[in-house]
Amino acid sequence: MMLDPSRDEPDVSLDLPEVSKHNWKELEIRDAWDDPLESFVEGRREVAQRALLDEDHPRKTLRRLVPTERASDIVADMSEEIDVARAVDDDKTTLMLTSPDCPADPETLLDWDVSPIDQMKYRGVPDCCATALTQHRANGQHDPIVAIARNTPSTEERGGELVVEDPHPILNPIWAYQGWSFVDFYPCSFECDRAREFASETGRLFREIGRDEAAEAAYEFLTEPTYWSGYHGLAHVKNSWCIGEYNTDDYWKEEVVRFNGYHDEVGDVSSIDFNS
Ligand SMILES: [Zn+2]
Repeated sequence: MMLDPSRDEPDVSLDLPEVSKHNWKELEIRDAWDDPLESFVEGRREVAQRALLDEDHPRKTLRRLVPTERASDIVADMSEEIDVARAVDDDKTTLMLTSPDCPADPETLLDWDVSPIDQMKYRGVPDCCATALTQHRANGQHDPIVAIARNTPSTEERGGELVVEDPHPILNPIWAYQGWSFVDFYPCSFECDRAREFASETGRLFREIGRDEAAEAAYEFLTEPTYWSGYHGLAHVKNSWCIGEYNTDDYWKEEVVRFNGYHDEVGDVSSIDFNS
């Protein structure tokens, strides 16, 4: 029998309703994680905006969609050092913010008059990751978890599963469906040092805005071995504490990625020290 050479290529034509749900394995576990992870998600926009004025963070632009009736107040609250362009569309307004040293002006970025690679560069996406992402998109992959696993040096294929043994935990993208991620792009590899740099600078900014506990919890959560399986447009995701289901690319056969090796048991929540 001939193997279908396209079997690893997802078919994004599948039109599924939007799926995004998660469940905690125990009530006690939910109580331990819910608040810090929610605080993490709430802090992400403030951190991204603060990054624009931070010397060490690579981000130079941020695109925000805000209610039109609040747009003027939101802009008035920003530092005058941030350049702003806006596009008003009835009840929603797009704001394009740029740092003082961004090589492109916000109007050009707002109108997408800059190549996708440069758009990513100004957002702080490392060249290696931007190039890889462009390739994934050209291959029809929009949630390239499998491709990233294949591009990670410590990944081993065992029993048809991709086992990533030694990733940078802070780059775990598998919970990004929930907003639990330190990067807002797909790294080229789970061991990409430049993506890790972006992530750790982002972690530092969380501390600076007073959300240290949230950032430490998110980091600890991402460090936990995570199981991801993608099949027919749906991803099933789990770690010791949480189970989730989300849309992904449509894989012809089931693909499994184990981020940071294996887990089987429910983690011991009492041992989590958020301040360590
Ligand atoms: Zn990279």
